Amino acid sequence: MDKELDEFDVDIPRCMHCGACVGSCPVNAIYLNEVVLEFNDDCTMCMRCIKVCPVGAIKIAGEK
Ligand code: SF4
Ligand code: SF4
Repeated sequence: MDKELDEFDVDIPRCMHCGACVGSCPVNAIYLNEVVLEFNDDCTMCMRCIKVCPVGAIKIAGEK
């Protein structure tokens, strides 16, 4: 089972499920689970997914 990483906050209502973040991840650490994005332990915190999101739906936890 994939554990959700605590390092990211995903603005679920804002996410339009385009899949860009999933495709951008070099280690396949992102999954689109129905409408909820999940991250797994393979994440290296490279921030590619954050940069590629067209609506800025992924944030580092604690940042505004
Ligand atoms: S930060 Fe990098 S490694 Fe982690 S989920 Fe995003 S694209 Fe993948
Ligand atoms: S790139 Fe952004 S809008 Fe697209 S699926 Fe990922 S979080 Fe959602």
